[in-house]
Amino acid sequence: MSFTAQHHQDLPPEEVVTFYDRESGARGIIALHSTTLGPAAGGCRLWRYPDHHTATLDALRLAEGMALKNALAELPFGGGKAVICLPDGPFDRAALFRTFGRQVAALKGRYVTAEDVGTSVADMSEVATQTRHVAGLPAKGAQPGGDPSPWTALGVMQAMQVAVRHRLGAELSDVTVAVQGLGHVGYALCELLHEAGAKLIVAEPRSEVAARAADRFGAMVMSSRALLSARVDVLAPCALGGVLNAKSVAELKASVVCGAANNQLVDDDMAQRLAERGVLYAPDFLVNAGGIVNVAGEYLGWRKPEVRRRVLAIGARMKTVLAQAERSGLTPHQAARGIAQDRIAQSPRVQAEAA
Ligand code: NAD
Repeated sequence: MSFTAQHHQDLPPEEVVTFYDRESGARGIIALHSTTLGPAAGGCRLWRYPDHHTATLDALRLAEGMALKNALAELPFGGGKAVICLPDGPFDRAALFRTFGRQVAALKGRYVTAEDVGTSVADMSEVATQTRHVAGLPAKGAQPGGDPSPWTALGVMQAMQVAVRHRLGAELSDVTVAVQGLGHVGYALCELLHEAGAKLIVAEPRSEVAARAADRFGAMVMSSRALLSARVDVLAPCALGGVLNAKSVAELKASVVCGAANNQLVDDDMAQRLAERGVLYAPDFLVNAGGIVNVAGEYLGWRKPEVRRRVLAIGARMKTVLAQAERSGLTPHQAARGIAQDRIAQSPRVQAEAA
């Protein structure tokens, strides 16, 4: 494959599976970045991609992010991700996810899937007709399950509280937060921030959802473009990745960036540029681990209080990363990456292979 020329990774992925099924129209990629710490866990994205190459790059980048996220969150999982290309015309959604489920089954537990952007609990229920290596299914009693987004929002909020104290010496009740994207996570985050007394500015293309946030949370509504350079204390990217590029970083007025979106930095150099501008960038793969913690709890049979304990620990982890960054003169992004990579390198499997 030619993707490595344009996509630098510290280590190449372990395995990349591509699939196509004429009958259901399912076309996609499952990227297993690493299974060193356990099965490669990460959600399944249904998205419109211009071509197969772009979809593959997205799967690879997201899978690597999952490996870092799972390691940093101290989960017994490696990192993987699936992307399915949204078919052009009408399609049978249930059949598409059953086909995907058979692909997951063929990996025999090396990959565990769940929801991501564009997929739902109902889609994962279709996947579950073909394989048991799926989470994000309807919750049963005291067991974790269902939509992981509220847990992601809770984790983002914990990290934001620590980042705001560290950078601004303030509490969430003292600050204005700009939330980009009011989807599953963004809206839940607004609820939590509103309860905490933060002022909100929001951007969301679905105008009825933006209007609801204005009504319920007293949020000011802006265009997504204007939001990125708005005079706020915190920017919380909760739409898609790649929002932090040379232009947006140069125009940013927020002191803290802390949001749920995966792969917010267009490349790792942006972490340095943000630091040079005095912006505290809270690493996305640290901040947004709440959802995968819930997925892990569901898959591994933990109880809800254990999930909650681990999601709340995201705040303490943020503190550890900030302290490590200060000690070593690194950006928080580099420090978090280093901690995750050390955890993978110190796994008994890697140690045994090195011996
Ligand atoms: P979602 O699809 O429910 O929400 C995304 C929202 O962003 C939608 O409401 C969409 O209309 C809006 N949007 C799209 N383009 C926009 C733009 N230019 N400006 C403003 N808003 C825009 O997705 P989600 O589940 O809420 O996830 C949001 C992000 O967080 C994604 O990057 C996802 O990968 C990441 N994430 C989600 C979870 C989770 O538990 N859902 C966990 C970890 C990471």
